[in-house]
Amino acid sequence: MYRKRNAKIVATLGPASANQDTIRALFEAGADVFRLNFSHGSHADHRRNLEMIRAIEQEVGRPIGVLMDLQGPKLRLGVFADGPVRLEEGAAFRLDLDKDKPGSQQRAPLPHPEIFAALEAGADLLVDDGRVRLRVERFGPDFAETRVIAGGVVSDRKGVNVPGVVLPLSALTAKDLADLEFGLSLGVDWVALSFVQRVEDIVEIKAIVQGRAGIVAKLEKPMAIRSLESIVDQADAVMVARGDLGVEMPPEQVPSIQKRIVKSCRKAGKPVIVATQMLESMIAAPVPTRAEASDVATAIYDGADAVMLSAESASGKYPVEAVRMMSNIIAQTEADPHYRHALDATHAAPRADSAGAIGAAMRCAVSALPVAATVAYTTSGYSALRMARERPHAPIIGMTPEMATARRLALAWSVYPVLSPAVLDVSEMSELACETAKQEGFGKTAEAIAIVAGLPFGTPGATNLLRIAHIG
Ligand code: PEP
Repeated sequence: MYRKRNAKIVATLGPASANQDTIRALFEAGADVFRLNFSHGSHADHRRNLEMIRAIEQEVGRPIGVLMDLQGPKLRLGVFADGPVRLEEGAAFRLDLDKDKPGSQQRAPLPHPEIFAALEAGADLLVDDGRVRLRVERFGPDFAETRVIAGGVVSDRKGVNVPGVVLPLSALTAKDLADLEFGLSLGVDWVALSFVQRVEDIVEIKAIVQGRAGIVAKLEKPMAIRSLESIVDQADAVMVARGDLGVEMPPEQVPSIQKRIVKSCRKAGKPVIVATQMLESMIAAPVPTRAEASDVATAIYDGADAVMLSAESASGKYPVEAVRMMSNIIAQTEADPHYRHALDATHAAPRADSAGAIGAAMRCAVSALPVAATVAYTTSGYSALRMARERPHAPIIGMTPEMATARRLALAWSVYPVLSPAVLDVSEMSELACETAKQEGFGKTAEAIAIVAGLPFGTPGATNLLRIAHIG
């Protein structure tokens, strides 16, 4: 079932949706990839969700992507003696490592020595998603004396963000490592790494994952934006995690950073997901605000590969309606004649490699000829991703003998993954590509398709062949 849209939808599962009927309804409404959020839920919950997704995949006969999202090093205050306290603007407030001494209006435990080790005078600590802002005046290895810049209420275990400071922390905690092994044993397709600060964070997780899943770098720290190009280069995909990004930096900076990240990923040919608060009001209402519809459309005009739902599908009242609405917004946006102009205007020049040359030739062929579809015959997924980079006019079929590749490609712009037998030579591949395009409803007899592949077959990164064939 071809959805007739380029951009994909990632839907997070949670208490509102983690049952067979709702997951199926989410898929039918348009979800292409399901996100298992390891900040919540037990291993048993995630296993059950994965098994339900795989059962639905069998029923509907379409590859479905599964993305596990690791919690990462979320920093938190300790507990308070007598419940929540109000911090007034201008007051002094001390943070220290003494986690056995409960907090008060004057001080609170912050049991993270890494923060004190990395602090600088003048740095800001943001508590509870930035609602309270504390500026560091003096600090030592086990304390910080701060001034309240923005007052508010703080309470037990509220989250703490330290923007602008590189923390000597791995993006992988002990919990993440255990979750990761578990997720890989389940066979997830993508692993999202939270709070990436440096390119080394991606290198570290790749060494553990060893290609068993694609790595999604969640960009939510200003430090990561400073090394954007190298992180995009190392990661297999990227998520614009606007929730924490909008805490770590002023919200007014998020739109331009979002555009910069999408542009950088498109240039590199890496899938990019725009995430968080896209249809936030649909947590409680059956329709979104006009501003939210416009936010989803902006990501589509920018050429993002995917847009994501978090609480809307995980814990909201209208999970299926939210996916359907997102799908409708994508379809309407892609039908706007201005959409093509917007994509073309932001298209990066071909990369100087063989896949870049084949991609440019394919893009040219697809605009010169009436082509029903582009078919990328791909083992690793590389050829299909490089064709998606070109954002061609004709839909892309990702024909692959590998189920893991088909599932991963569910995230990529326009790619319609199809599991197919392995082929031995180019003529067999061409015949199969024509048959697939016809069977899946992309074209009719005598219509042309553009086929892209790498020879010898099965060599990742060897995209070197473009063939125009006609459906028999
Ligand atoms: C975000 O911060 O936008 C995000 C997607 O991360 P999470 O919801 O996992 O904290």
